[in-house]
Amino acid sequence: MNKQLDSNTILAERDLQHIWHPCTQMHDHGMPGTGRVPMVPIVRGEGAWLYDADGRRYLDGVSSWWTNLFGHANPRIAAALAEQAQTLEHVIFAGFTHPPAIQLAERLVQLVPAGLDKVFFADNGSAAVEVALKMSFHYWLNQGHGEKTRFIALSGSYHGETLGALSVSDVALYRKIYAPLLLTPILTPSPDAYEGEPGESPAQVAARRLGDLRALLERHAHETCAVIVEPLVQCAGGMRMYHPDYLTGLRALCDEFDVHFIADEIAVGFGRTGTMFACEQAGVSPDFMCLSKGLTGGTLPLAVTLTTTRVYDAFYAEYASGKAFLHSHSYTGNPLACSTALATLDIFRDEPVLERNRALAAHLARRLEPLRDHPNVADVRQTGMIAAVELVADKASRCPFPAGERRGLRVYLHGLQHEALLRPLGNIVYFMPPYVVSEADIDHLVDVAKAGIAKALAD
Ligand SMILES: *Cc1c(COP(=O)(O)O)cnc(C)c1O
Repeated sequence: MNKQLDSNTILAERDLQHIWHPCTQMHDHGMPGTGRVPMVPIVRGEGAWLYDADGRRYLDGVSSWWTNLFGHANPRIAAALAEQAQTLEHVIFAGFTHPPAIQLAERLVQLVPAGLDKVFFADNGSAAVEVALKMSFHYWLNQGHGEKTRFIALSGSYHGETLGALSVSDVALYRKIYAPLLLTPILTPSPDAYEGEPGESPAQVAARRLGDLRALLERHAHETCAVIVEPLVQCAGGMRMYHPDYLTGLRALCDEFDVHFIADEIAVGFGRTGTMFACEQAGVSPDFMCLSKGLTGGTLPLAVTLTTTRVYDAFYAEYASGKAFLHSHSYTGNPLACSTALATLDIFRDEPVLERNRALAAHLARRLEPLRDHPNVADVRQTGMIAAVELVADKASRCPFPAGERRGLRVYLHGLQHEALLRPLGNIVYFMPPYVVSEADIDHLVDVAKAGIAKALAD
C-alpha cells in the first residue's frame, strides 16, 4: 500500500484518531484499516462527482444528505461566496441587518406559497423546526390559549434530531433511546401509500387518513398547537410517499379546528418533488414553512422558517407586554450563507431547472421500471427527483428483511467499489441525485444499484 501523506489510508487513520461522525456506529470503521466500512476521505468535488485522496471517484447519488442541487464546487455559487467573504463575513443579526439577508427574504417571499410574508432565519434544519414549534406555541399563548401545548405528527415522520425536533419525529432508530427526554407528540397514521390496503389507490389512502386525523382533532384540537408534516415525501422515514390530497385536506382541517399547519420542506423544497415547493402540488399555503438543505445549493448551513403576517402580528406589541419571540443563534442569517442562497436562486431564475428535472426524473423512472418484477422488490416509487426501491424478504407478504442483516449496507459497500455513493435507509435503496446529473450518470447509479441489490440478496 502506497502510504503517501495524503492517501486515503493516512487520512482515514488520522480521522479515526479524533473524529466522531454523525449517524455512525464508529465500531463499523474499526481500527484503521480493519473495519468493514471504510472511512472515505474526499478531497475534491466537481458536478455530481466526488474524488477521494487516492483519485477514485463516486457519483453522489444522495446529494450529500439531500443538500446539493447544482453540483459540488459550483462555480457560480463559489464566486458569490468568495465575493461576500471579502465584503462582510458575519454580523450580529439583532439590531443589525445586511443586504444579502434582505434580498434573500424578499426573494423567498416571492417564491413560496402565498401568505408566507415573514422570514425568521436560523442555521440548520432542526433549528428551523424548533423555531416553528416554539412560534406556534407562543402564538397561541399570546392569543390567550396557553392550554395549547401539544403537536400532532405523522407516523414515520422525521423533523431533525435536536430534542424538540426529535420530539415530533417517529423514526425509532433516532427517537427510541431519547424518548424519556422528549415531548410526547400525538401521532396520526401517515397517508403513506405503501401502507395502504391492497387495491387502495394513494388518493383513497389519503382520504382515509384524513378521516383518522379528523377524529384525532375532534379529541385533541383544544390542546394542540399545530400539525407538522413533511409534504409529499417522508424522507428519513424511508422515502415514503403520499398523495397531495392529504395536504389539501390537512389545510382545511387545520382551519376548521384552529390549529397551525407546519410544512417541513427541508428535504423536499427547491424542486425535489417536481415543483419548487411540494405544497404547490396541493395548492396550499401552510402557516409555517421550514426550509434548509437545498436553500444554499448544499454549500453552507442556513435555514429559514417562514410564517404569516397574522402570526407575526400576535407578537408585535409594546416591549413591556413580554410578547416578543426570543430564539437566537449566534450565526443567524450569516451573510456568507445568504450569498450562496442568492446564487442558488439565481440559477433557478436563469436556467430551466424544473423542466430539466422532469426529463431526468422520467429517465430515472424508465430505468427503475424493470425492478418492479424483481422477486425481492415490494415497491418502486418516485416523486420528482426522489426515487426508492423497497427490498423485502418476501414479496407477497411484504415481510421485511431482519434489520440486523444490514442488506442495505451491502449495497452501500458495493457502490463504493463501483464509483457510486448510494446510502440506503435500512433496506430501502433510494436515488436523490443533484440536478446536474446526466442521463448517463443516472444509468450508472441504477446499474450499480442493481448489481449491489443482487449482491445484497445473495445469501
Ligand atoms: C434533514 C431534515 C431535517 C433536519 O435538518 P438538519 O439540518 O439536518 O438539522 C428536518 N426535517 C427534514 C424533513 C429533514 O429531511
